[in-house]
Amino acid sequence: MRCILVGPPGCGKGTLSGSLIKELGLAHISTGDIFRAHRASQSEFGKRIAMYLDKGSLVPDELVLDIVFDRLEQPDCEKGFILDGFPRTLAQAEALQSYFEKTGKALDVVANFNITDDVLVQRIITRRICSKCNAVYNVSYHAPKQENICDECGGELIHRRDDHEDVVRERLKVYHASTEPLIDYYRKKNLLLDLNADQGSEQVKADFFSYIRGKNF
Ligand code: AMP
Repeated sequence: MRCILVGPPGCGKGTLSGSLIKELGLAHISTGDIFRAHRASQSEFGKRIAMYLDKGSLVPDELVLDIVFDRLEQPDCEKGFILDGFPRTLAQAEALQSYFEKTGKALDVVANFNITDDVLVQRIITRRICSKCNAVYNVSYHAPKQENICDECGGELIHRRDDHEDVVRERLKVYHASTEPLIDYYRKKNLLLDLNADQGSEQVKADFFSYIRGKNF
């Protein structure tokens, strides 16, 4: 199965991805994770993109596209993949469409996470991420067993610098302006699955799995 997860920061894309990796063995392509790894490595590329990440604005398309298309050629993508955080603009969606046409691949589903901004801001500023395996926690309702330590791998949990309220508000503004138009784009292609992400991650997962089972993906 090839799917895209579209939704504002903190809507639960990462959590659903975790289930899809474990239960369906899909490759997970998170452009945000890829960029953060580059920044952490202090590579030349990492230095070029750091400013965008810290401000909560989008990395320019010309720095995004090759990274994604190279990643899609890796062998683990053959059995299917989740694109999490890509595409984020109509130009990226169109570039992806051309890539699929060239390579004879097609998308199966685009999951659209609907959620209200205030729920999101609260959720993101209390979110913590494992610095090693990227597992997602929340100090309010999904705390790790041991403070600041990942239950899965023992890695240290971090509060991402772009998960602070001022940056989160900027990321939401960018989402509404640049990424929301993708919803209509994929609805017109009959690929959209609307999920109510205000309900929490377990219900979102149940709704997603019930949809894909119905379609026999
Ligand atoms: P995320 O973890 O998906 O919220 O992404 C973190 C940050 O990485 C975003 O705020 C952007 O600065 C950058 N980023 C991630 N994916 C993309 C993309 N597809 N296009 C442009 N910038 C991106």
